[in-house]
Amino acid sequence: MSGFVSLVGAGPGNPELLTLLGKRRLQEADVVVYDRLVNPALLSPLMAEKIDVGKLPHHHKFSQYQINDLLVKLAREGKRVVRLKAGDPYVFGRGGEESQYLRERNVAFEVVPGITSAIAGLGAAGIPITHRDFASSFHIITGHHKAAGKELDWRNIAHQEGTIVFLMGMEELGRITQHLIENGKSPQTPVAVIQWATHWKQRAVKSDLANISQVVTENKMSSPALIVVGDVVGLMDELYPHLPLQGLHLLVPFKEPSQLFAKLQDQGAAVNFFDRRLKMPLKFDLPDISHGGTLVVTDFAAFHFFQQTLLASGFDHRALLYWQILTTNHMVDRKLRDAGIISDGNFDMENSQYRDPVIVLGEQQTLSHLPGHYSEKIATYQAKPVAQQIDLTNFHAVIFPSSASASDLVEGCDADQRQRLVLMPCFAMGTMVAEECHRLGLENVIAVEPTFDAVVNAVERKFQNESSRSTSRQFRDNISPNPAKDN
Ligand code: SAH
Repeated sequence: MSGFVSLVGAGPGNPELLTLLGKRRLQEADVVVYDRLVNPALLSPLMAEKIDVGKLPHHHKFSQYQINDLLVKLAREGKRVVRLKAGDPYVFGRGGEESQYLRERNVAFEVVPGITSAIAGLGAAGIPITHRDFASSFHIITGHHKAAGKELDWRNIAHQEGTIVFLMGMEELGRITQHLIENGKSPQTPVAVIQWATHWKQRAVKSDLANISQVVTENKMSSPALIVVGDVVGLMDELYPHLPLQGLHLLVPFKEPSQLFAKLQDQGAAVNFFDRRLKMPLKFDLPDISHGGTLVVTDFAAFHFFQQTLLASGFDHRALLYWQILTTNHMVDRKLRDAGIISDGNFDMENSQYRDPVIVLGEQQTLSHLPGHYSEKIATYQAKPVAQQIDLTNFHAVIFPSSASASDLVEGCDADQRQRLVLMPCFAMGTMVAEECHRLGLENVIAVEPTFDAVVNAVERKFQNESSRSTSRQFRDNISPNPAKDN
């Protein structure tokens, strides 16, 4: 059996800047072979095996030859392979060579275009690559002279009227500006450098040919970055986007982009996911359900597994006709409603007037320390923590829509990760969730009303005054909004 290789462009960084075909190929893939610049947020929801062939500037985890061979080997195993490359697969980054190698070995392949950083990265920093008043052409050039194999035609480049964009040029910045000036470009020509364009840690500086190297050094900017030369750079002050949550990197528990994901992204934040616990159904005896009573649902999965057992015993929803169904948080309400059940309200632990028997459904561990008096606790499943593969120092805050999401994350963290998490701002949706966060030892808990709009507003309030997220719009000798650790 012969597999298939898709060379997919991941886009410049923001995970939503991916084509529909690229998205489908990722979902269908058996294995994804990806580069350093690819945003991990694109990979975290995938079931496929993931292989990092990350190229660091001076250190290649895999040589190009090894990557080529790996693609052929995986395809010959009959796998659907996605070769995920930053930006567009055919704009530098050796995508053309990979295609040739596959063609020579008769491996079926396709190219799925991506949005190149060389164009979109400028727009993300408020620079239109062309403009009727300033540039009627653009030129995309590798600044990595070794990659080109020979010296560039600097005279030709310096005499272009249009916008010049250098990729892979940061180490050669001094040499690039010197060549351009020596070949006739005015030292006052505006230059911008944009690092990690469209990623949460995007930064941009603006200066001119004579001074950009110094500004870049002062601001400690490095690869990956775009060097943009031309009068269009002058539009940056006017057009740089300013969204309320720009520059924030937030962690949420949902694997699939959810309503919360969309609301946060639309306000300018970047959102990534953490893995939830593995859920293993438990065997339990069904209580006598014929006379009704009160059923307290602490999380939706618990109800789901209860329902599975009901079905296996020949009962559907109607068997619960005489039961009052109560929940312990709004997420359970919402999910029950999606499953066609409208809950009778929230369970109040202080209230002892509920109709007997009061049966509570939940996860084994969670139920064991759940306060309150119940006729029976039924653990319908057991959750096993998964080791979290995330670098928490890269996040500004985490959002917990439910108690289980908080315990899942904490339990999956190692000691170092926990240390960081304890002090990290945690937005807890609802007071029960906030209490669970405190119980788990988290110290920077912000309880918010359990609606997505309230979360977005609370995040905005929390970070608007942080000095590290300057919203200053001065660019010359200055840095654009940047929140946290940069790497
Ligand atoms: N195929 C990619 C380019 C690969 S070459 C594309 O179409 O975008 C790698 C270079 O691209 C980096 O050295 C950097 O100059 C540039 N680059 C890629 N993504 C970038 C980003 N998000 N921000 C700034 N520069 C980026």
